[in-house]
Amino acid sequence: MYQFNYHRATSVADAVAKLKGAGDGKLMAGGMTLLPTLKMRLANPSDVIDLGGIAALREIAVANGQVSIGALVTHDTVAQSAPIAQAIPALAGLALHIGDPQVRNRGTIGGSVANNDPAADYPAALLGLGATVHTDRRTITADAFFKGMFETALAADEIVTKITFPVVERAAYMKFPNPASRYAIVGVFVSKGSAGVRVAVTGAGASVFRASDMEKALAASFQAKAIEGITVSAAGLNSDIHAGADYRAHLVGVMARRAVTACA
Ligand SMILES: Cc1cc2nc3c(=O)[nH]c(=O)nc-3n(C[C@H](O)[C@H](O)[C@H](O)COP(=O)(O)OP(=O)(O)OC[C@H]3O[C@@H](n4cnc5c(N)ncnc54)[C@H](O)[C@@H]3O)c2cc1C
Repeated sequence: MYQFNYHRATSVADAVAKLKGAGDGKLMAGGMTLLPTLKMRLANPSDVIDLGGIAALREIAVANGQVSIGALVTHDTVAQSAPIAQAIPALAGLALHIGDPQVRNRGTIGGSVANNDPAADYPAALLGLGATVHTDRRTITADAFFKGMFETALAADEIVTKITFPVVERAAYMKFPNPASRYAIVGVFVSKGSAGVRVAVTGAGASVFRASDMEKALAASFQAKAIEGITVSAAGLNSDIHAGADYRAHLVGVMARRAVTACA
């Protein structure tokens, strides 16, 4: 690990000020991705600004057809939240299957979406539900937020403060997990609500994406057999020691059909 200055922010405004004042500052939520990166000397920030003391970022609210989750809320808290489980059970279920208990106790929803790991689970929920990312200065729709591998619409000094999700009629998430890390080799989040049908795929490509052909077919007939003949092209999909692009393309169809069946 290289040397850096450590700061503990007391508010979002304080964190923004500290970030703007740093030469090359980095925010820290639970540190689940940031700390290994620092330990392996893959990053060399001048300053680390710890968000952990900002209580306002840990709030959960369910009201007016919306679930609001503060950026610092851990995966375990989402998994154990009765109001979230009642409003969007698929969201609580997704959080329950992230990583292991240690990761779920430290990892946060804000850190996960800001990091936009191509195999992370939450990006599928945000895109699959049509969520909104709130920052210290604006709101960004999930459709506009995820830009590419580890890339988002966030400015370098912008802080995610909360995510809001619309409560939908039905939703389900199915993932084929890497048996070691539990990251998604492929995960598909399907929802049906007043805004229509959404199908979001994580793990398969450089970043989470929507399967629009499946969305159209499911809008006409919301059942697994409606998407039986729809395939996703393997061109451009991820290929690594865990799974080739062809296998991932096949898994997208399997996970999507399972998710639709689980919605019933
Ligand atoms: C062993 C292991 C297994 C895992 N398995 C899974 C899995 O199965 N599924 C899955 O989805 N994830 C998995 N993860 C990732 C984990 O869920 C964390 O969410 C992720 O590592 C981010 O961690 P964090 O929230 O502690 O953020 P940090 O590591 O603190 O930060 C991550 C990045 O986000 C930035 N950041 C943090 N908070 C904010 C904010 N509020 N605004 C703007 N930028 C911010 C930081 O500057 C940093 O660049 C795993 C991680 C590990 C180590």
